[in-house]
Amino acid sequence: MLCGGGKTLAAGPQRELLRDSWLRTNRKKIKELDCHGGVVIPGLIDCHTHPVFAEPRLVDFEKRIGGAGYEEIAAAGGGIRSSVAAVRQSSRGELSKKVLTALNAMLEQGTSVVEAKSGYGLTLEDEIKSLEAIRDAARQWPGEVVPTLLAAHVVPAEFKNREDDYVKLVCDEIIPLAAKKKLARYVDVFCERGAFTPEQCLRILLAARQNGLDTRAHVEQFTPAPLLLFLGFDPASLDHMDCVSPGEIAVLSGADTVVVLLPGANYFLGHNKFPPARQMIEAGVAVALATDYNPGTSPTPSMPFVMSLACTHMKMSPAETITASTINAACALRLQSRKGSIEPGKDADMAVFDVKDYREIAYWVAWDRCVEMVVAGRVVSSAI
Ligand SMILES: [Zn+2]
Repeated sequence: MLCGGGKTLAAGPQRELLRDSWLRTNRKKIKELDCHGGVVIPGLIDCHTHPVFAEPRLVDFEKRIGGAGYEEIAAAGGGIRSSVAAVRQSSRGELSKKVLTALNAMLEQGTSVVEAKSGYGLTLEDEIKSLEAIRDAARQWPGEVVPTLLAAHVVPAEFKNREDDYVKLVCDEIIPLAAKKKLARYVDVFCERGAFTPEQCLRILLAARQNGLDTRAHVEQFTPAPLLLFLGFDPASLDHMDCVSPGEIAVLSGADTVVVLLPGANYFLGHNKFPPARQMIEAGVAVALATDYNPGTSPTPSMPFVMSLACTHMKMSPAETITASTINAACALRLQSRKGSIEPGKDADMAVFDVKDYREIAYWVAWDRCVEMVVAGRVVSSAI
């Protein structure tokens, strides 16, 4: 690979690249990076994360191991709402430190682009504070962060029995302010029993479009949803999709929307059922993978671990997991013109793995084999 100005200039067999006319006369200006026979892939793209939280959710973890259900966990002081209380009490600086720690852990394991959602603040101030924490952390991180407003994560406790008032707050105040401050590129919603109804979600996505923001949605994790109505908003991605139907798969195969699968959540919740990746891939749906990094259901920063789960539990091939974590994930963030593949004109973002065969990236479970990260043509992390 030949990089310059932060971009990939050429990629191919070494003998061919060395014949490059500019290179022949400027050989001395080149800094050579020897990958010692390892495997080089495009920097991984984690297109679905929730990094703005203060504490791990250990009550949930232990209660769930003991067989407790969602309601019992919430009654014991766990659940999403416990993360909300901690985020509201944290300063922007404290939160941004946590976000940066997570981003660095992701980078160490091969990730150079991260989509990061707010969603544990759930007031105007605390959602803006969360997005500012993402921006502050992103400025100190060499990779690229795509910020998403997820004010519609759950209805906060103080809006119990007046959920529509909260939806109105999201539409009329939180989305416009986040857009005005240029703190978010996307608006996301959690469409699920116990979160927001399809009708409420569609109202929020409409407000997003009216404020010039693109959309994405958490749908069909536990229950079916009217996907066609969501597709009307041209979402960049629909995420989870555990209970997608065959009819919906046929529609999605012709849509411009990427389906983001999050097997880390199924794994961590101890579920035996995983999203039907094979059916979707065979129907021609663009499938991406992401960690869903969050304190309740998927506390992992590791894309290689998720790729491994995709192979063992969703029967994706190792090659498909790389596609799903690079170019398809770039499409899920609409960054495919700059990110997601090693080709001339794109950003020179690469992950170097200390393995001999690309299939080993998904093969070694929970063993971090990423030894070097290059972002925009510069080495930003190296264990070589
Ligand atoms: Zn999520």
